[in-house]
Amino acid sequence: MINRDQLRLEKQRQCDERIEALYGQIPLLREIDQTIGQKNIAMIRVGILQKNKKEQQTLQQQIEQLLAKRHQLLQEYGLDESVYEPQWDCPKCQDRGYIKPGELCSCYQQERLQELFSRSGMPAAMRQYTFDNFYADKYLDPADMEKKIRWCKQFAWQIEQGQCEQCLFLTGDVGRGKTHLSAAIANEVMAHGNTVIYKRAADLFDLIRQYKYEESHKRCGEMLEQLRSCDLLVIDDLGAERTTDFVVEQLVTILEDRNYQNKPWIINSNLDLNSIQAFYTSRTSDRILDRARIFKFNSASSLRLEKANERKKNNAAN
Ligand SMILES: [Zn+2]
Repeated sequence: MINRDQLRLEKQRQCDERIEALYGQIPLLREIDQTIGQKNIAMIRVGILQKNKKEQQTLQQQIEQLLAKRHQLLQEYGLDESVYEPQWDCPKCQDRGYIKPGELCSCYQQERLQELFSRSGMPAAMRQYTFDNFYADKYLDPADMEKKIRWCKQFAWQIEQGQCEQCLFLTGDVGRGKTHLSAAIANEVMAHGNTVIYKRAADLFDLIRQYKYEESHKRCGEMLEQLRSCDLLVIDDLGAERTTDFVVEQLVTILEDRNYQNKPWIINSNLDLNSIQAFYTSRTSDRILDRARIFKFNSASSLRLEKANERKKNNAAN
């Protein structure tokens, strides 16, 4: 996150520099500002300390005349009083990040969302995947797919509320929309300020191996901790990677930890359940799938192939 105090100081410094440069260009402006400063101090002296109302009024009039003179001078140079203001990125909160104590500014919320998205590890292209551009009518049984989408929306909502008891296992051949649907859920919960970690299984297992062999042990340790504690963990493409007993054991530990804390996860796999059981031991796969809702993706043809065919058709037509 941005260090806002530092940012504000820097903006203030730039503003002071700008004014100093302006004084070099317009010496009369410096004179006026210095006189206004002196008169303001005198106002405090006669007004608050000596309680001299008459003298205070005279000073007040003089200050107003000086301000008018300054306004005119600035105008002659095509400027106005905003030169005295730092150039805030967010004028609403002057880059503080909050409007008043306890009320966060929208710029801060936006910054937090951006940080959530970039920390998730989700490829930028997948941020476009939403429920709105997931089309059930591409599937053999659109009504059934609609039902699954409704379940996924409910699932996302429960994660946002911090009351999700289930997990999701998506199985089916390559290019059937598993990644799209899981990314839609991830994007939805991130848009509501929840933390998501999105990892391809192969990358996740590399990370675990690195951790074992002490390469950047601390960084990997932090990452593993985030895998356990984030609001939603998505593991994409499980089953395509080379595994060892150690890696499987680590994966199961992460998932069990999450199950224990009622923290949801989504796994996408090209393998069907029988293959998963053959691939991992039955005990492991049972534990993985213990809490998971399982969706099988059946479409007559692969969506990815369909898209490629559509492109070919369009290219031929053009
Ligand atoms: Zn703001």
